[in-house]
Amino acid sequence: MQFTRKFKFDASHTLPREFGEKENQMHGHTYKFEITIDGQVVNGKAVDLNKFKKIVQEEVIDKLDHSHLNDHLEIPSAENISIWIWNQLKEKLQDIYEVKLFETESHWVTYRGEDGN
Ligand SMILES: [Zn+2]
Repeated sequence: MQFTRKFKFDASHTLPREFGEKENQMHGHTYKFEITIDGQVVNGKAVDLNKFKKIVQEEVIDKLDHSHLNDHLEIPSAENISIWIWNQLKEKLQDIYEVKLFETESHWVTYRGEDGN
């Protein structure tokens, strides 16, 4: 059973020029992201939601919300942020299946750990 929850954080970043002139200026996004857990249903539950929320809050949101993403990542593109989120969570959320990160309404990335970065 796959169980997904949405989260969000606000952060600023600047990207190299090859990402475009606007992305090269310092600016902010409200990043939305979804974490999917692949769990077994036991007593009607696939996930311990309170524990899940607490781990995401502590490992991702508390670190990134109102931060400058270049302090965490050399190139804070949506691709690299999704990998960073995966790596923050994989030890405490062993049933993690997928990270989806929405940088804007119209584009997002999906990461399932396959690049092993
Ligand atoms: Zn941007």
